[in-house]
Amino acid sequence: MPATAFSVKFARELDVDQLATLMTGAQPTQDRDGAELLSGFGDAIRADIQCSSCGKFGASVVRSARSRVSRAVLRQAHFRFVDPNGGDAHHPFCEFYGDDETRSTQDSLLDFGSEKSSETRAIRLLVCKGIEQGIFDQRRIRDMRQWFFDLKSASRFTVSLPLEAIQWAYSLQRHPHYQRWQFHPSQAEMPAFDWKAAAKKQFTEEHLDLFDLVTGRLVPSDEATWKQAGELARKNHGREVFDTTKLQPYYEAALSLCVFVAANSNIDFGKRQPEHYRWKGAPPALLALCALVLFVSDWDMNAAIAAFAKLLAAPTPSDLALGNVIGLNPFHEYGAWRLVIASSGVAARSPHGLDYGAQLAAIEAALREQHRQWKDRQPRG
Ligand SMILES: [Zn+2]
Repeated sequence: MPATAFSVKFARELDVDQLATLMTGAQPTQDRDGAELLSGFGDAIRADIQCSSCGKFGASVVRSARSRVSRAVLRQAHFRFVDPNGGDAHHPFCEFYGDDETRSTQDSLLDFGSEKSSETRAIRLLVCKGIEQGIFDQRRIRDMRQWFFDLKSASRFTVSLPLEAIQWAYSLQRHPHYQRWQFHPSQAEMPAFDWKAAAKKQFTEEHLDLFDLVTGRLVPSDEATWKQAGELARKNHGREVFDTTKLQPYYEAALSLCVFVAANSNIDFGKRQPEHYRWKGAPPALLALCALVLFVSDWDMNAAIAAFAKLLAAPTPSDLALGNVIGLNPFHEYGAWRLVIASSGVAARSPHGLDYGAQLAAIEAALREQHRQWKDRQPRG
């Protein structure tokens, strides 16, 4: 349920009350809220309001709902996008497609206007300065979203990997494959011989080509990203989705700019060290702003850095409401999707199944058998 959407006429992202004020000239009140003020403006809204993500038209206003007893707001006023046949007007890949009233979009939407953390405060200030300095405006922010949406939807990937593939790829990435060791049955004569470790080392020797693939394709990721990858693979099994890997060069560029800005701006972007952004992710608001600045700089890194230097040197903006824009994080779920796609490739090149534990157990049994046979052949003393 998009609480805000983009008005072409007013060239900015608006919620229902803000749109009502601009369209009707009247201020919403407790008794006549924005949705009521807009009741005669259906055609104008359908023609003017675009989905923030996929850019489709066809919006209507859904009124807020209040509890009869407590008068508490149960549902915020929001926009619904309906096509001429009464169906969902969003692009099928739009994050709002098939949206129900309760689904949260908190993850993918960043509210630059909220001041919850020092990081969002810092970013909001920079967004205001950027708009005031003419480096970007809300129209360009909308253009960036559309550009990312079109880029992603132009290439597709069908999620067909077996569900165990994620766990398999995860296990391979955690497997200490850099330790090389050749087993010999005589080693097992050691009083505390570690069969489990021997099986792991043997596994490495038998899967060297697979580890080349893992090193090349699987970006080291934290537990949370792997978990999210598993959920995405399960939820979207058999479905066609965005091929998120198309975002890679833009993600790399935005991440590099984040690291540079965080390390050289003298602004506190939170506890995480900039050099860890590559493994643990960058602060989402900073990542979104870096993507925006790169976008308006035609993805030229030094032009983007020059724009940042200008932003940082600009005087305190006179109007903090300028930063009251919901910025879509173009890299929402990017890390997890990248793991899904890489795991799919690794699974396709794994001829002996995808059960890591079972393979280790089989290798251990084979090594024990080798040792038994070897021992049988030794002269008895
Ligand atoms: Zn949409």
